[in-house]
Amino acid sequence: MSQVLPGIGVGMGSASGPVARMAPPPQLPAPRPVTDPEADTAALRRALAALVADLENRATRAPEGPAADVLFAQAQMASDPTLAEQAGEAVHRGADPVHALSATFDGFRARLLAAGGYFAERATDLDDLRDRAVCHLLQLPMPGLPDPGHPHVVVADDLAPADTAFLDPARVLALVTVRGGPTSHTAILAKALGLPAVVGCPSAADLKDGQKVLVHDGTVEVDPSPEAVFEAARREERRRGRAAAAHGPGRTADGHPVALLVNLGAAHELPRAAAADAEGVGLFRTEFLYLDRTEPPTRDEQTVAYRGVFNAFSGRRVVVRTLDAGADKPLPFVTAPDEENPALGVRGLRTAVRDPGLLDTQLAAVAEAARGSKADVWVMAPMVSLPDEAAEFAARVRSYGLPVAGAMVEVPAAALRADQLAQVCDFFSIGTNDLAQYTFAADRTLGALAELLDPWQPALLDLVATTARAASAFDRPVGVCGEAASDPGLALVLAGLGVGSLSMAPACLPEVRATLAAHSYAQCQDMANAARRAPDAATARAEVRRRMI
Ligand code: PEP
Ligand code: MG
Repeated sequence: MSQVLPGIGVGMGSASGPVARMAPPPQLPAPRPVTDPEADTAALRRALAALVADLENRATRAPEGPAADVLFAQAQMASDPTLAEQAGEAVHRGADPVHALSATFDGFRARLLAAGGYFAERATDLDDLRDRAVCHLLQLPMPGLPDPGHPHVVVADDLAPADTAFLDPARVLALVTVRGGPTSHTAILAKALGLPAVVGCPSAADLKDGQKVLVHDGTVEVDPSPEAVFEAARREERRRGRAAAAHGPGRTADGHPVALLVNLGAAHELPRAAAADAEGVGLFRTEFLYLDRTEPPTRDEQTVAYRGVFNAFSGRRVVVRTLDAGADKPLPFVTAPDEENPALGVRGLRTAVRDPGLLDTQLAAVAEAARGSKADVWVMAPMVSLPDEAAEFAARVRSYGLPVAGAMVEVPAAALRADQLAQVCDFFSIGTNDLAQYTFAADRTLGALAELLDPWQPALLDLVATTARAASAFDRPVGVCGEAASDPGLALVLAGLGVGSLSMAPACLPEVRATLAAHSYAQCQDMANAARRAPDAATARAEVRRRMI
């Protein structure tokens, strides 16, 4: 009898194969007395130096991308001099190097957890650094990805970037993690690599090496029947075949247009995004220009970066989102460190009231870059709550000679008053990640709240419908740029609700395009109605699945 373990489905498709577990972290030996603190401190410093060298080496060898970026960031964390200093002080207080190092990393970790949100999600990075540093110190083999020599499903407690950097998509069939949420590294990398993945699956802790599993639809089926594996493989083959065959602008089977666009959030993503068969950029997250800095980028720096994107998308649409700082995207020079509840604080467009110069510099740079380019540049504000905010933003954008100004709809108040917003701005882009967070009062970074954050929640779809109706009444384009857009079934629902464009990671485009092309607009509308009538997210998803070809 097979057993089905529930989790949170991220990534794409399905796969089956034998489990290969990640090596467990090193066990700490019993504490030993310190007889030569200088020698022990030197050993500790050598271990940290070896850790940094190892991370830098891996980062240099990793393909350019998110994994390499995070490895470099980890190397930076590990070379923080306060780490070596505090561990050295612990040795001088009598702790042996292994326990001194471990306790110091744990102290840093506790501070990250206390900071909450995005920082808390990075706690796994520090666990990984601690384990690697201890292995260097004890000269143990490094913990990391298994390599059983054949295709396998990786099962881990949680994956850290240092592991995922060397993940070989030719050998790894799927990823399963015990912990982690929808925004964990595993989730992001699975999407980028087009791998099936299940995160937040507590029962996966009991899986054994070599045990056969089938990973699909957010579940891990243990010892699946040959029929279930065959059926999943057939579905997967059809999925891949269909995705590979579809090209060109997004359309339903009867020609209703749904523009397919890419999300762009880091400089290294540009070549892949520009090469994608997409009609443009639906969400250019400009935050990356401001990250890891102590002061904002200058106007000239920004102009160069924006020009690079506009040139790469010459002749296509580029929707630039102005700086969205705060909460899950904190910036030291923008966000106040003492807000008790940063997700409800001065974030997104609200920061422009506190620091208008920041927005003006950015708009001036966008305008200058747009002037010499053939891209169709649209500009939108994040976290708009009131029609007046949207009006003021649109006026400011237009004062820089940028003709198309829009609002992100990611606060329920904006969705409920979309008819008023539509009268003062030119388009809407619905950010379902934040819209779910604020509709359900559920922190978007918490894996434990995944059910509330599920974009299939009918209440969330109601707000999308309200927004799309208002947009249509005032003849304003409306798109979705949150993660919901990359779910093929949900893409049909969104199209049926009247959404005219979907923006997503480039790897997700082919399947969404193919799914749209296989269904008529009337079928999309029928699915949208069925999903909204459903009492909960699971039923909505099941109702749509049942109707899909
Ligand atoms: C969203 O909230 O859905 C969105 C697209 O913006 P971000 O994820 O960058 O907050
Ligand atoms: Mg958002």
